[in-house]
Amino acid sequence: MDIVEKMSHDLLILGSGLAGQRAAIEASKVTNGKIDVGLVSKVHPMRSHSVAAEGGTAAVLRPEEGDTYELHAWDTVKGSDFLADQDAVDMFVRMLPEEILRVEHWGVPWTRDQNGKIDQRPFGGHSFPRAVYAADKTGFFLMQTMYNTLQKYDNVTRYDEFFATSIEVEHGAFSGVTGLEMVSGEVYTISAKACIVATGGVGRLFNFTSYSHTSTGDGYALAYRAGVPLKDMEFPQFHPTGLMPSGILITEASRGEGGYLLNSEEKRFLENYAPKMMELAPRDIISRAMVTEIQQGRGIEGPEGIPCLKLDLRHLGGEKINKKIPFVRELSIKFLGLDPVDQPIPVRPVQHYTMGGIDTDSYGATCLRGLWAAGEAACVSLHGANRLGTNSLAECLVYGKITGQKAAEFVEGVRSSQVVPKEAASRVESRIYGDLLKHETGERIYEIRSELRDIMDVNFGIFRTLEQMEYALKKIREMKSRFTKAKIDDSSRAYNTDLTSALELENMLDLGEIMLTSGIARQESRGAHSRLDYPARDDRNWLKHTLAYYAREGPRLDYSPVRITIWKPTERRY
Ligand SMILES: Cc1cc2nc3c(=O)[nH]c(=O)nc-3n(C[C@H](O)[C@H](O)[C@H](O)COP(=O)(O)OP(=O)(O)OC[C@H]3O[C@@H](n4cnc5c(N)ncnc54)[C@H](O)[C@@H]3O)c2cc1C
Repeated sequence: MDIVEKMSHDLLILGSGLAGQRAAIEASKVTNGKIDVGLVSKVHPMRSHSVAAEGGTAAVLRPEEGDTYELHAWDTVKGSDFLADQDAVDMFVRMLPEEILRVEHWGVPWTRDQNGKIDQRPFGGHSFPRAVYAADKTGFFLMQTMYNTLQKYDNVTRYDEFFATSIEVEHGAFSGVTGLEMVSGEVYTISAKACIVATGGVGRLFNFTSYSHTSTGDGYALAYRAGVPLKDMEFPQFHPTGLMPSGILITEASRGEGGYLLNSEEKRFLENYAPKMMELAPRDIISRAMVTEIQQGRGIEGPEGIPCLKLDLRHLGGEKINKKIPFVRELSIKFLGLDPVDQPIPVRPVQHYTMGGIDTDSYGATCLRGLWAAGEAACVSLHGANRLGTNSLAECLVYGKITGQKAAEFVEGVRSSQVVPKEAASRVESRIYGDLLKHETGERIYEIRSELRDIMDVNFGIFRTLEQMEYALKKIREMKSRFTKAKIDDSSRAYNTDLTSALELENMLDLGEIMLTSGIARQESRGAHSRLDYPARDDRNWLKHTLAYYAREGPRLDYSPVRITIWKPTERRY
């Protein structure tokens, strides 16, 4: 195949979820459409994970009723178990209200209250009702609006179903990417002066997850191999209410609207764990409480015999459920044949978010010249060791805007662009067609994938021990070696999803290794990282960010300080 230098742009955005689309719009706006943007996605934008977001996005909109930026920032920092960088959190909360109004002007149908104002509901860890929402399909409406708005900009070229395979570096700076055009199976390079990585999280590293199948952490792996460190990867988040047995999310909005969590004794057990905030305590605390209840024998037998607990919405009544959380009802009926108006929903904690990510500064810039990261792919760090619900869509909006603007300004100052050498595409082409697809016999990649997910579920869950993590790391290293000999069933070029699944698996194997290496090293419990062998938080030794750098023999760890501008760490009580 003739591999040619096909394309080049001023700015390349990897990922067309909420963060990527917001960045593309901002870069276009600030340059009056003069910038040439390439927007790359392995799926159609409206199939990006962001459409699945449900409960809402945070913003301080009611100062007259007592909400303040300081309160939102404090809730976020306390929720993060003091690992968030406070200067970034401060900027983030201040930029949010304007974003909420801006996207409303673009078309988001925010749910209104009885006075016609944008409604806000309570959410976990927030001490004021500040979740702005569009019923419980907030992500869908945000994405639809973003997608419509993007159509106004003819300076944006979309590459849908283009699977990015590497981030290329020339002379110490970003120069472009390589990728697989899925429809033809051709490998191309796309050169650009700058890039924003907005490729989302890595929920699919786990079996029991609320995440879309596309959330395989590709952008993390690409940035890591290009020399950019991944920060705080030991902190995947578990959300308390995954629908049994699939793991589909039952939004926290169901508790924001007043739902109860009950154990087998019909007791609201959170009074023993978070007596003040009860079902609206942060996710790390509720998830630990749920596992503890189950382990102590107060769970119920859920579908497929799996122990779980009950989410009770019956007291809310059909009218409120239909108006505020209709999707919760729809999901329960469709996937479990159960109507929450009449029956409690069986739930258990589910892997839900990646607090860690590509290490950036407060403006989303990475250490690689010309490379930014935004949304779930980035670790700014706003969420530290535990994200509060609604702060992620909020991050996609704010950091989509910031990185879009910053990267556009950078591009305007760059005179000549770098070109990715043809050899980069040849290298990927021969790796894919000469190496990965050459095994006609052997283990199927799906066997390795499902084993990887099981290993992560069992050994890197809500509670961890050194033995579990070391065992999982050993297994993953074995799987990495097995992967090199594994068989990909489909050897054709056109739309080879077996091949892209293999590329995703390769990325997830690296990311599992990084999470476990970072988790083993962090000898404390903080936020979502709960070690039975180190049950206490240790600010003296561990109030710092983990940085995982690529090395041939496995990740090399380093650390960076947490930026504390106002609040010294204190005990978290809810
Ligand atoms: C069920 C659910 C509900 C949620 N609800 C809320 C909520 O109510 N409020 C809230 O704040 N947060 C919520 N979250 C979290 C939030 O939805 C995500 O953090 C956020 O949507 C991530 O957006 P993103 O733009 O960073 O990435 P995504 O929307 O995941 O987009 C990633 C993009 O990268 C592209 N991509 C990935 N890999 C490649 C590759 N190799 N090549 C090319 N393209 C690639 C994908 O195609 C996609 O376009 C929820 C999460 C879940 C799982």
